[in-house]
Order: sequence, then C-alpha cells, then structure tokens
Amino acid sequence: MNIPENIKVGYKDYKVVKVNNLDDGTNLLFGEVTYVDEVIKLANKYPENQMKLTLIHELVHAVDDMLGIDLKEEQVVKLGTGLYQVIKDNPDMFRVTE
Ligand SMILES: [Zn+2]
Repeated sequence: MNIPENIKVGYKDYKVVKVNNLDDGTNLLFGEVTYVDEVIKLANKYPENQMKLTLIHELVHAVDDMLGIDLKEEQVVKLGTGLYQVIKDNPDMFRVTE
C-alpha cells in the first residue's frame, strides 16, 4: 500500500500530513485524526510499516465517525491491526485491472 495525500471517507476528503513531532500534550502519538478539519497526521519518525498501520488505524476512526458506530479505542486498535495485516498480505487486492 501507499500513503496517499488525500483519502475520501464518505463525503469527507481527508488530507494526510506527515509531521515531525506529534503529541497530545502528555504522550507522544503515532498519529491523529481531526474530523472537523478532515486531517490525518502521521508522525514521520517511525518506520514505514508503523506509519501505514497508523494510517489504517486513523482511517478506522474516520469510518467510525462517519457512520456513528461508536467504537471503543481497543476495538479500533484491533480492527486497524487486522485490516492492515490483510491489506499488507494481499497486495494485489486493490489494484484495478481492466
Ligand atoms: Zn486511536
């Protein structure tokens, strides 16, 4: 998978931004999603694999927000990890062929 600059989630168009430092005031973060601004931030000091996992995690948050599922953080962690695994292990799956 690639890390694109924009990702559509429902009617929202999230901008994906890589940043040097990301924290919530107390803890360092791998990533962060802001629903109102439609921005997903990824801390770029981590390995590529970690950034991709983080992107999928933040996308699960974005889908949760879009559909009002109200997932708990632990569920987002597990779904994100599971989805990333499937995406990584099946690289041809999302390739469009005519
Ligand atoms: Zn989270």
